[in-house]
Amino acid sequence: MQTIDTSYIEGTFVAVSGTEELGIVNPATEAPIGTIRLGDRLDAQRAIAAADRAQTAFARTTKQERLDMLRALSAAVLRRSDDIRDATIAEYGAPLGRARWISRYASDCFTITADALKDYCFSRRIGDATVLMEPVGVSALFAPWNAAAGTICSKMASALAAGCACVVKPSEFSGLQAHIVAEALHDAALPAGVINFVNGRGREVGDELATHPKIARISFTGSTPTGKAIARSAVESMKRVSLSLSGKAAMILLDDADLAVAVPMVLRAGFQNNGQACIAATRILVPIRKIDEVTAIARSTVAALKVGQPSDAETELGPLASSAQFDRVQRYIARGIDQGATVVAGGLGRPDGFDRGYFVRPTLFGDVARGMDIVRDEIFGPVISIIPYRDEDDAIEIANDTIYGLFAYICSCDPARARRVARRLRAGEVLINRIAPELQAPFGGVKQSGVGREFGVYGLESFLEPKSIVESPMA
Ligand code: NAD
Repeated sequence: MQTIDTSYIEGTFVAVSGTEELGIVNPATEAPIGTIRLGDRLDAQRAIAAADRAQTAFARTTKQERLDMLRALSAAVLRRSDDIRDATIAEYGAPLGRARWISRYASDCFTITADALKDYCFSRRIGDATVLMEPVGVSALFAPWNAAAGTICSKMASALAAGCACVVKPSEFSGLQAHIVAEALHDAALPAGVINFVNGRGREVGDELATHPKIARISFTGSTPTGKAIARSAVESMKRVSLSLSGKAAMILLDDADLAVAVPMVLRAGFQNNGQACIAATRILVPIRKIDEVTAIARSTVAALKVGQPSDAETELGPLASSAQFDRVQRYIARGIDQGATVVAGGLGRPDGFDRGYFVRPTLFGDVARGMDIVRDEIFGPVISIIPYRDEDDAIEIANDTIYGLFAYICSCDPARARRVARRLRAGEVLINRIAPELQAPFGGVKQSGVGREFGVYGLESFLEPKSIVESPMA
């Protein structure tokens, strides 16, 4: 059992002033594994004050100093990558392979950003003006529970590269993972106050950060409703806000795709991160005359999928992260059935052989209609709808028929055709014949999947603001 009862403020782990205690449960066993004491507004105010004190000196650091810091942070996180991996398994239920990738990615974020920073020019001439790219100021970084270590580190890398001191607000449901990341970052020995962490509820710690006048910039990753609430709060003091939000990605199988290769990949895109991924492909669009063939391959692929203990190297799908998530996904599967969809694989309840843990059955729905909740909403679990289309135009129209626009996927053996379709999709990123994003390319959504871009040079620039200095000689 682990007890987390500190915030990380001004270079020190300090006792939390809040009094609420939250249990941490292993989602695969439902066994308690720790408690976290949640911070309150006072903790948030202390962290903001510390970042504010550090900001002026940090903004004046040179590019080389910040490059050195990013590399030190990468090395520090790498040293704790086994611990981050284990916490991601124990607290979140990520399968071993995924947890290993996340822990490496958390370290790699800093080097990827260092590469972008190395070549970045903070000053340029435009007409008579010298345009300086300056740090926006103290930044609040919000992370969700489904991607704790990676989100924290990628946002922080961009903020620090730009010269912004930061306050991290991890999800209250990823306390263990965030605490290990904070300990790792502490070992990099950055100037006190440049990095701060405060645990706590969104409505208290999160709201304090979203409304506090000393916070100049918010980088938020989470659900669309929370993103909207934060944007409303932030506008009062004109904070610069970027939002990475929910998704409902379509995967278009073009009629030339090699189905034996494509369908298993398509399902991996839908079930990634145990189905709890903003970029998960949860609407599979299939040429109408291939529906039976695709459904048959998909059904047998799901039957062979290894659902199991996340620490087992063979496991492809672990449990959902919490009982709330389990209940949410069950509700959606029940609604799909009630609204007339056909269960092609999976369905309600736990998979056979499981009597505890938040395991759900990987589920495929057929015979879906566009208005159904399972087609419209982000379910955030391993539930996929198979949707027929008539022709290319129809596929594009269905893919774009969503309030979201984070990711889209295409499978095709014809690269020119796939690229032509990709240009017509309304999404921040389109992946063709792959499910891994490019980590140096801009990441973010259109429509209600968000505002702004993260990663690489776009992430760096989102923490900078141009200032024009225009001069003439004295007459
Ligand atoms: P969430 O919106 O509930 O919480 C995200 C963060 O906001 C947490 O730190 C939470 O404590 C805080 N928060 C909650 N209410 C708040 C409030 N009123 N004021 C201030 N802060 C508040 O999201 P979640 O359930 O933790 O994460 C799942 C969601 O995140 C899904 O919708 C998923 O699609 C999305 N997500 C998006 C991306 C992306 O990059 N686009 C990545 C991962 C997850």
